[in-house]
Amino acid sequence: MLSAYIGLGSNLGDPAAQLCAALAALSRMPETRLAARSSLYRSAPVGDAGPPDFVNAVARVETGLAAEALLDALQGIERAHGRERPFPGAPRTLDLDLLLYGSQRIATERLSVPHPRMHERAFVLLPLLELDPDAQIPDLGAARDCLCSVAGQNVERMR
Ligand code: ADP
Ligand code: MG
Repeated sequence: MLSAYIGLGSNLGDPAAQLCAALAALSRMPETRLAARSSLYRSAPVGDAGPPDFVNAVARVETGLAAEALLDALQGIERAHGRERPFPGAPRTLDLDLLLYGSQRIATERLSVPHPRMHERAFVLLPLLELDPDAQIPDLGAARDCLCSVAGQNVERMR
């Protein structure tokens, strides 16, 4: 078993309800336990995604699944929530990203871990640091040291 961090995001339908349903689905993945979940955060859309605003959160799972099997399970949950991908960055009912998988670095066709953009996104860093103030990003160092470069991003803790 190792700890993995999952980033959750939604900006269609009822985003907060989507995230709560997704957290329940994470806890039902095989060989996996939902160990912790952050508060929900509201963030202004980045790039082509918005509006409406996103709701984001981060979850920590303890899992016996290999990284690609974990990605399969996450994509299965996305599909079950009716996700479509009309264009990159489109509004989505549910986005599940594998942020960290233990302290491993993974670079395959399907999977880049740590998630290559996590350190540029306040909506990832803030909930991650809520769960683990000492979180480390392989090759980058302490997640908290990335905060100053995202200070201008509009992210607000909801509940
Ligand atoms: P984004 O999350 O950047 O908006 P998608 O969720 O549509 O984009 O993911 C696109 C592809 O990214 C997926 O098909 C998946 O194989 C790949 N991918 C690479 N690394 C990761 C990761 N760490 N977590 C989730 N998906 C990843
Ligand atoms: Mg994704």
